[in-house]
Amino acid sequence: MSNKADSPKASAPRPCVYCRKQPAVAAFKPFCSEGCRSRDLNAWLSDVYVIPGNANEDELSDMSALDKPHEAG
Ligand SMILES: [Zn+2]
Repeated sequence: MSNKADSPKASAPRPCVYCRKQPAVAAFKPFCSEGCRSRDLNAWLSDVYVIPGNANEDELSDMSALDKPHEAG
């Protein structure tokens, strides 16, 4: 007597990869809305632009001078 086949891995709408609360919308795949898409893109970009302290062997030019002492914070 199973009329509703609710298979977890069968044609189940994927949740928004950003908020993971609402199902992704085709128009904003894999996000649920433009807001989530924009936010995710923003986070991704800022993460890319903001170069962490990771080694940058490709960096030949010495942009940053010697270690700058932290100012009063
Ligand atoms: Zn979302």
